Amino acid sequence: MSTGRVFDIQRFSIHDGPGIRTTVFLKGCPLRCLWCSNPESLDPKPQLSYLAATCIACGACFPVCKPGALTKDAAGKAVVDRARCTNCGDCVAVCDAQALELVGRDMTVSEVMDVVLRDRDYYAQSGGGLTLSGGEPLLQPEFVEELLHAAHNQGLHCCVETAGYAGCEVFERLKRGVDLWLFDYKESDPHLHTKFTGRERETIVARLSQLHDSGAKILLRCPMIPQCNTRPDHLDGIAALARQLPKLVGVELLPYFDLWRAKLPRFGLTTALPDTVKPPTREQMKTWNDHLRGRGVRLAG
Ligand code: SF4
Ligand code: SF4
Repeated sequence: MSTGRVFDIQRFSIHDGPGIRTTVFLKGCPLRCLWCSNPESLDPKPQLSYLAATCIACGACFPVCKPGALTKDAAGKAVVDRARCTNCGDCVAVCDAQALELVGRDMTVSEVMDVVLRDRDYYAQSGGGLTLSGGEPLLQPEFVEELLHAAHNQGLHCCVETAGYAGCEVFERLKRGVDLWLFDYKESDPHLHTKFTGRERETIVARLSQLHDSGAKILLRCPMIPQCNTRPDHLDGIAALARQLPKLVGVELLPYFDLWRAKLPRFGLTTALPDTVKPPTREQMKTWNDHLRGRGVRLAG
């Protein structure tokens, strides 16, 4: 049985497909979206999380850090030198306050299913099931295939959320096990797509078209990021794409949230997205949805 690198499992999720679901978040992503809501998902390797507010200055971690990545501040709290830290996790084991944590661990299919099956009664009542997200689940196709197979054997409905940047063969391999694809589409302008996500748009749209033509059920999900992709020309681009893909289940605009910014210091990460970018208002979301509706787009929900 293969293992997958998981960084979170969220039970009672209601935004990742129909009904009540358990969402399994896999680590590693080929994109670098400026607004990534899970910045801890990008690196495929486990990463040290340090929450200074939780540190009780006990001093237990300093002697165990072989590379010397931990120093004390004036209050005796730990300071992590990210250039030296190897993410070995030795310090985590001695931090009783749980200020230090290693995010991303290898789990077997049966370990994940043990968690997923705890809520099967809720799935049955609500039409929910299992959703794989990330990161990019398609970076771990062997594990995803086995997990989907195990979930289907238990009669669970399965969604996979993807940004679409993977080889054709990965989609071919997995598509039979997926009941609904939650396919992210982020920007219609090719130059801006590369600027915002670090990857070219063409590959993603090609995979989306191939998946659509194969008969897969796809919900197109478009994050709306003020100052980036809320322009009318992008909305028109979404409408044009939806016209080319008539068998889409629907299109869903997702409002930007900025809670992810609070995670950055925990991992020593920074962002190029200006902090003037704020979540859209309800009125803005309504305007954008109306824009799509006016162009004949079938909206989900
Ligand atoms: S994860 Fe390892 S290298 Fe990094 S601070 Fe902890 S003990 Fe040091
Ligand atoms: S072991 Fe944890 S609580 Fe103690 S000094 Fe290190 S980070 Fe702080």
